[in-house]
Amino acid sequence: MAVLPIAYLGHPVLRRVADPVGLEQLTAPGDNELQKFIDDMIETMHDEGGVGIAAPQVQRSLQIIVVEYQGNERYPDGAEIPLEVYVNPVITWVSEEKKEFWEGCLSVKDLRGLVRRPSACTMEAYTRRGERVVVKADGFLAVVLQHEIDHLNGKVFLDRMEDLTQLSYEKEFMTYWVKSAEENTEPQQTV
Ligand code: ZN
Repeated sequence: MAVLPIAYLGHPVLRRVADPVGLEQLTAPGDNELQKFIDDMIETMHDEGGVGIAAPQVQRSLQIIVVEYQGNERYPDGAEIPLEVYVNPVITWVSEEKKEFWEGCLSVKDLRGLVRRPSACTMEAYTRRGERVVVKADGFLAVVLQHEIDHLNGKVFLDRMEDLTQLSYEKEFMTYWVKSAEENTEPQQTV
């Protein structure tokens, strides 16, 4: 496995609609390049300390996302997200109810922004083995899935912000905003 180079904001790959994955590529026998790439995405997400990563963030225009959150001491009740890989994911339903969450992004280094998104969603996708899955998500998982799938559509969280005056660097976020952010119990993580 290998840690892949991150695409930072300004890299055109982040603004493209990613190419769908041919499912036969996932299950091709032998030395499967795509499976190796997925392993590298996972390793890169771990190396960067992210909660999710999308293939365009490692400079490859493919519809693949990885999510995982193990929780931490600060948020003992924070929802854990098991390691999952989703291929060709599509959001098929969103709730009318919305919720605000301070988002960060591996491709938008050091910045946090308050984003309002539907608080629940349904996603249809394939696993890395090519099996079709339907995932109903709310809370933190719903945020992470919507954030990562935005990457597959050429969007970053900045595009979703309603008020850019709330954009903060990590350090200023911790100093000036984290108190109010802690009132909502979701973990503060970079996705
Ligand atoms: Zn991101």
